[in-house]
Amino acid sequence: MYSKNKKILSVKGMHDILPIDIGIWEFVENTIYNILNSYGFKKIITPIVEYTNLFKKTLYGSNDIFLKEMYSFQDKLNGEKLTLRPENTSGVIRSIIEHNLIHYGIKKIYYSGAMFRHEKPQFGRYRQFHQIGAEAIDYIGPDIDAEIIIMCNRIWKKLNIKNIILEINSIGDIEDRRLYNNDLIIFFKKYEYMFNSNELKKFYSNPISIFDTKNLEIIKIINLAPKLYNYINNNSIYHFEEIKKILLNNKIYFKINNYLVRGINYYNKTVFEWKDKDKNYSQNTICAGGRYDYLIEKISGKNIPGCGFAIGMERLIEKLKFNNFKKKEYKYDIYIIYKGKQAKLKSFLLAEKLRDIGKKVILHCEHKEKNSNIKSQIKLANKNKVKYSIIIGEKEIKNNTVIIKNMKYFFKKKQIEIPLLKIIDFFKNKKYNL
Ligand code: ATP
Ligand code: MG
Repeated sequence: MYSKNKKILSVKGMHDILPIDIGIWEFVENTIYNILNSYGFKKIITPIVEYTNLFKKTLYGSNDIFLKEMYSFQDKLNGEKLTLRPENTSGVIRSIIEHNLIHYGIKKIYYSGAMFRHEKPQFGRYRQFHQIGAEAIDYIGPDIDAEIIIMCNRIWKKLNIKNIILEINSIGDIEDRRLYNNDLIIFFKKYEYMFNSNELKKFYSNPISIFDTKNLEIIKIINLAPKLYNYINNNSIYHFEEIKKILLNNKIYFKINNYLVRGINYYNKTVFEWKDKDKNYSQNTICAGGRYDYLIEKISGKNIPGCGFAIGMERLIEKLKFNNFKKKEYKYDIYIIYKGKQAKLKSFLLAEKLRDIGKKVILHCEHKEKNSNIKSQIKLANKNKVKYSIIIGEKEIKNNTVIIKNMKYFFKKKQIEIPLLKIIDFFKNKKYNL
C-alpha cells in the first residue's frame, strides 16, 4: 500500500517490531524458552510455508471463515499450492511424523514464530502475528494437560503478569458433539434471524463454533443454550475431573466455562484459554490450547494423541506494557570518536581490544559530512546512550593518549586524558572514578 505521499508502507495488518521493543521481546521469549526447557520441551523450527493440503486436512471442519482467511497461493514456477501457516501445530505434527521424532523419544516440542491470517485488523488482531506454542505428543492421560496448564501459570508468574484468568472446558469426543450439535441446531433455530451471514455459515458448517462468536447479542443467547458438558462421555468426564484435581492441588484457580470452544476444529476433551481481565474486548485471550487426539491420524493415519497451546506474543507484550513492565533497551559501554586517518586506524584496533574484554563498543563510522566533526560525533554517542566516549583527535595521536568522557555528564566537561596504553586497564579494572 502507498501512503498519500507515495511512500511504501508495511502491508495492512502486518507490523514492524522496532528496535525500541526488541529488548522486551527478547526478554519475554527467553523467559518462556527457559521455562519450556525446564519442563522437557525442545525447540523446533518448521517452514513458514506448507502445502495447502496439510491445512485442508488438519483444519477441515474448522469454521469456514478460518480456511478462507488463509494466505494461499500457487507457486508460479511449478504450480504447487502453498499456504503461509495460519498456525504451527499442523506443521509441527507434519514434521514429527516426517522425521519419526517419537521413535527418538522427542515428544515435547515448542516453536516460536510468525503466523498469518487474513483477519480484519484491529487492536490485538493482526494479519501477521507471532506465537510461542508447545505440543506434547503421544500422551493420553489428563496429567500432561494439567502439566501444560501449570507450565503456563509459571510463565505468567515469572513475567509478573497480573489479572489473567484461566477458563477450562471439556468438549468431549467427536461422537458426543454429533449428538450435541443436533440439539444445538434445534435450540438456535428460533434465533437464526440474529445471525449475520458469516455466523450462519459458521453455524451450519460446525454448530458449536458459534460459541466462538464475538457478537454480544448472540453471547447472551448462548448462555441459555444446552450445555455440551451434559453430553460428553464418562471417559471425557473422568479426564476433566482429574485435570481439575491436579490444578486445585497446585493452587491453580480456574473458571469452568461450559461454552468455551476453539475456532479450530481439531480439539477434543480439554480446551482452555487464559484471558486478560484488564480488557473486555474480544482480543483478550492471551493463550489458548487443548487436546487433539484425532489430529495426527488425519495427517498420518497413525492413532497418536496430542495436547498443546499457543501464546499470542503481541497480546502478551501489550499486557506486560499495561502492567508497566520496564523496557530493557540495549546499553552500550563505549562510543569511539576519532578525527584523522591515523586516529581511524588506532580506533579500529582499540575497538577490537575493548570487545575482547567484553565491552559493547560502537565505533563511529563515516556518516554524511555533517556528522564528521567531533562535536556531532559526541551528540550521536549521546543518542546511543553509551556510558563512555573515547575521543582520539589529532592532538591525542601526537601525545599517544586518548580522552575518556563520562556521558552521564554530557553537558559538562567531565573528561580525562590518559595514555593509550592504559586504556584497557582503565576499563578492565573498573576504575570508573571519572
Ligand atoms: P481469537 O479468539 O482471539 O480469534 P483464536 O482462537 O483464533 O483467537 P488461536 O488460533 O487459538 O486463537 O491462537 C492462540 C493465540 O494466538 C490467541 O489466543 C491469541 O493470543 C493469538 N492470536 C490468534 N489470532 C491472532 C491475530 N490475528 N492477531 C494477534 N494474535 C492472535
Ligand atoms: Mg481467531
